[in-house]
Amino acid sequence: MPLSFNMHINQNRDMTVMVIDKGGRAHAISQAYENSARVNSIIVVPGNDLISYHRKKEVLVLSDTTERKISQIIELAKKYKVDLVDVAHSTSLELGLVNRLQQEGINVFGPTMEAARLESDKVFARKFMDRFDIPAPKFDVFDSEEKALEYAKGIYRYDSDKSLYVKAAGLCAGKGVIKIDNFEQAKVAIKKMSTLGNAGNKFLIEEALEGEEFTVTIIADGTNYHLFKTARNEKHLRNYDRGPITRGLGAVSPVLDWDKNSMFIKDFEESVIKKTLLGLQEIGTPFSGILSFVVMASQEHGSLVPKVIECNARWGDPEAQVIIPGIKNDYVDVVQACINQKLDRVKIDEDNLTRVCIVGSSRGYPGDTSQVNGKIIFGIQEIIDNPEVHVFGADVAMSNDHFYAHGGRLIHIMSQGKDIVEAKNNAYGAMSRITVEGNNLHYRIDIGWKDAEIIRMKQI
Ligand code: AMP
Repeated sequence: MPLSFNMHINQNRDMTVMVIDKGGRAHAISQAYENSARVNSIIVVPGNDLISYHRKKEVLVLSDTTERKISQIIELAKKYKVDLVDVAHSTSLELGLVNRLQQEGINVFGPTMEAARLESDKVFARKFMDRFDIPAPKFDVFDSEEKALEYAKGIYRYDSDKSLYVKAAGLCAGKGVIKIDNFEQAKVAIKKMSTLGNAGNKFLIEEALEGEEFTVTIIADGTNYHLFKTARNEKHLRNYDRGPITRGLGAVSPVLDWDKNSMFIKDFEESVIKKTLLGLQEIGTPFSGILSFVVMASQEHGSLVPKVIECNARWGDPEAQVIIPGIKNDYVDVVQACINQKLDRVKIDEDNLTRVCIVGSSRGYPGDTSQVNGKIIFGIQEIIDNPEVHVFGADVAMSNDHFYAHGGRLIHIMSQGKDIVEAKNNAYGAMSRITVEGNNLHYRIDIGWKDAEIIRMKQI
């Protein structure tokens, strides 16, 4: 924590913004506020140690508080007399931080806990999509292991290797979504639901979709919305889209095949976005904040149709790292217009650059990475001032000017260019300077391959 942090910042007219989040997404959001002419200082709770390192403005990280400690966060917002709180973490949203801040009269950006159920309760989300005719996978809901097993047995009797997903209704840090391909796996996945506490009390078994997955992100003020550039979160652990699904080992924006001006996305606005916002209004929980849809473009009767795999009531991570830096507006103007339900009065501009983000993780991620904790991360100081790249911190700890591994995803290196080939060049150049003591760094070398290939094909 920088001891020089000025406790009197709230006295002057420049804004103090508090961001509730951690990881690379928190870093990218804090950078958007840092670039705002209206912001003087930023507080990130709980953040990570890299967020406050080498910044242009004062950035205070309060890592003693977690995203779960709602009352403590409110006390901190009052103590530092913050002008705006941006709640970007799903757990704080689920626990009603936005509602509580509103009750306290504190200016807050993010959806209420009721609107955030689109993310925090997968059963609610699927039933909502069903009710408002939003295209999504077929699903069934269970609250008993026996009934789920009976159901799975029935399916596998006729189709012994059908792919399905078993999903806990509640948030469980990515551990509640399990793909199954046979009855043996179904038994293990269904049993796992009972080990997930309240999150697994109810669960879904749903059809596994095939196709191209990407993310569509909007900012909505309840009624009006603005569509950001599309992004692709590359979730597989290993190159060639192999290995287990992680929370994301890289991202690209825009996605060439699904540009936001494409017909496919225009259709998506009608079949998904408008119905979602109107549906939420109809049930009395209008959505204000960032809403991201994880979409599958699936073949159906010879044409590609979008289906919603999941809704997130905040920016995706690492999608935020490749979308937010392309927003040309002052971010506070956009956020404040959203809070004031005046998004229709703001024209949001994005640049024409392509961005790629590469995630460096501890060896072992997404499994146990405890053996890497405390190992030195080398090279961050060498690339932090490189104007070609942005370095976003995630599970990083800092002590005596050295950086240490402190979890799964460690750092995100983002770069931009006129196209994906140029963007990749800079990002991978920077990543090649990073190592983790004991050869413990893992990263994919093929992030953005699909878009690079599209460009190369056009050049032939
Ligand atoms: P979720 O937490 O629901 O987003 O699931 C995590 C990841 O699992 C998604 O990003 C997809 O890659 C995959 N996934 C989840 N549900 C489905 C589905 N019904 N069909 C295909 N892939 C899915």
